[in-house]
Amino acid sequence: MMKNIVKIGNVNIGGNQPVTVQSMTSTDTADFNATLNQLLELKRVGCDIARIAVRDEMDVSVCKKILSAIDIPLVADIQYDYKLAVACADVGFHKIRYNPGNTSTSGLNELVSACKANNCPIRIGVNGGSLEKDIKQKHGGASASALVESAMRSIKLLEDLDFYDIVVSVKSSDIRVSSLAYRMLYESSPYPLHVGITESGIGDLAIIKSSIGIGSLLLDGIGDTIRVSLTGDPIQEVLVAKNIIKATSSKKNFVEIVSCPTCARCNYDLERIAKKAEALTNNINKKLKIAIMGCTVNGPGEASDADLGIAGGKDKAVVFKNGKILLTARTEDAEEIFFNILRELISD
Ligand code: SF4
Repeated sequence: MMKNIVKIGNVNIGGNQPVTVQSMTSTDTADFNATLNQLLELKRVGCDIARIAVRDEMDVSVCKKILSAIDIPLVADIQYDYKLAVACADVGFHKIRYNPGNTSTSGLNELVSACKANNCPIRIGVNGGSLEKDIKQKHGGASASALVESAMRSIKLLEDLDFYDIVVSVKSSDIRVSSLAYRMLYESSPYPLHVGITESGIGDLAIIKSSIGIGSLLLDGIGDTIRVSLTGDPIQEVLVAKNIIKATSSKKNFVEIVSCPTCARCNYDLERIAKKAEALTNNINKKLKIAIMGCTVNGPGEASDADLGIAGGKDKAVVFKNGKILLTARTEDAEEIFFNILRELISD
């Protein structure tokens, strides 16, 4: 189902908009410099929308200064206290995330009025770890249908107040539960989906869980904005999120590096060349496929659909362009020519 478009500051999500990357600051929100610096760094590495935990009035006043010091759209993350959510809408946050499992509905009317007055969307952020008690009891736990019921209940409450500027998430740390919940919600709600696997953990396993959970949904066209939750530096979350989008995107508006795993036939330093090409092209928004292959026996054939490629040999290497061999030269010379052409391709 095509989703509504929701405007988060200067970023649109939903509809046919590209999937956006979100992350969340891990600094003490009240520490203006630390939080601002982390936000600037998040923006620099490609974060489109950043979220900040707002715990009290002090955080609200610091965030007011932050909002005027940076141009990345900011989301206030609220737990328990709708009055803080109202204050955040009033100071100019670009979206409010509240958790229906732990935030009283008694103040919803006031929050909606503040959000309407400030053109501030609301994300209903359902989390398997803090579901409404009655829903959890009814479903015997934080199942996918329980997550969806919580989301649909909150959607109805907002719609009854004539508020439709809504984004929804139904996160669980179990990728099967999350995946099913998002699929159910995708069919039954017109609101853009913020997709993530919550508390996915630390290290490689966390990255794999997020990649499978988020990536499998994106492959099916489900998800309008994503947040990878990793224990540690949020910069890593953004880098992983960008790679998930790259790997699953059908539009491929980026430079795709294809490199072989190498085997006994590889006679040159493929890993160094691949890393150099990756660093050079990481932030280029252009559809290009670059192949870096280990040998001249199979390399060009294996990467025949690449725009540019190099295949190493013992003393000589082959540079190929548009699937055809362009030249054979000493390995160092071929590498230099390869990178010269690559720089030309990404600059024009
Ligand atoms: S391209 Fe050559 S070196 Fe790389 S995996 Fe294939 S056969 Fe091995």
